[in-house]
Amino acid sequence: MCHSCDSPSRRSFLKTVLGIGTIVLIGGIDRHFAPVANATVSAPSIVGCSTWGAQSPKQPITVLSSRPTKIIVHHTDTANTTDYSLSQAYQLARNIQQWHFNRGWIDSGQHFMISRGGYVLEGRHRSLEVLQGGLYHVRGAHCDGQNDVAVGIENEGNYMSSQPPAALYDRLVALCAYICQQYGISSSQIYGHRDFNATDCPGDQLYALLPQLRQDVAARIGDGGSTRTWPIVQRGHSGERVKTVQYLLRARGYSITVDGIFGSGTESAVKSFQSSKGLTVDGIVGPQTWEALIITLRNGNTGEAVKAVQSQLRARGYNLTVDGIFGSGTESAVKSFQSSKGLTADGIVGPQTWNALVNS
Ligand SMILES: [Zn+2]
Repeated sequence: MCHSCDSPSRRSFLKTVLGIGTIVLIGGIDRHFAPVANATVSAPSIVGCSTWGAQSPKQPITVLSSRPTKIIVHHTDTANTTDYSLSQAYQLARNIQQWHFNRGWIDSGQHFMISRGGYVLEGRHRSLEVLQGGLYHVRGAHCDGQNDVAVGIENEGNYMSSQPPAALYDRLVALCAYICQQYGISSSQIYGHRDFNATDCPGDQLYALLPQLRQDVAARIGDGGSTRTWPIVQRGHSGERVKTVQYLLRARGYSITVDGIFGSGTESAVKSFQSSKGLTVDGIVGPQTWEALIITLRNGNTGEAVKAVQSQLRARGYNLTVDGIFGSGTESAVKSFQSSKGLTADGIVGPQTWNALVNS
């Protein structure tokens, strides 16, 4: 298997955080699973854990209340078998789970695995349902320092000197395109394990294919590999954008005042948030911090993040009360705003709508 890893500190952290029950949702933000609007890439067929005969996880799976921001490609470093059968794929998934148990992990480290025959299998439990929801992320154990922000895909085989079979590569493109679509991840945010950890993974040949993979995924999702443009917000700034940052930080549990003035308190909270997400800790709200900070909202949601949307809409002339309750009035205003920006008027505040709210 590849040198998937989670650090000892991460493991001890898990032991203290994981409580009773089967679901741990970090963040405490009440939202609902729903399909992502404007879906253009259909979901590839993915075999769930129960179908391939996974054992139960050793501890509850952690579901984080934020989307992943990147994809990391691995190889399993197993034999380049010519057994392309579904049963062989199931056996490999069971083997990997057992190897990962043997390393003291709670479940398979990766979120998904693709066999050389082109079968896509769920790895860590709950990864499939969470991907279908498009809002949350299952904490993995596949790349040290990235497990809270990256979806990990294991590709069966060793690709140091061999090319992956066409069937596998085809499914890798399809899976990456679907993941990018579900989470609003740019095709430019597909990496190899070696980009982050000292490892050969995913092999020289597969690693060399990553630029092609990004291009092929970009063609599927039509993003041209571009990332959303976000405004820079930092200490000394003031106004509605700063309020948005402050509301979103409050939604993340930081006790700061929403006064629209980016001072030392806001800066400290931004740094702490960045640290918690494995981002560069500079106290400046730029593209990566924005992408991690925003929360998809819809009718029925409540809280500080809703206030951020209402306050932004008020500042644009919509007659709304900033009460933190996303009801029909807020929904109408969101739809009207979306129409005015040429966005799909679905009333859901996802990444594109957040981006338009803080950019214009
Ligand atoms: Zn790896």
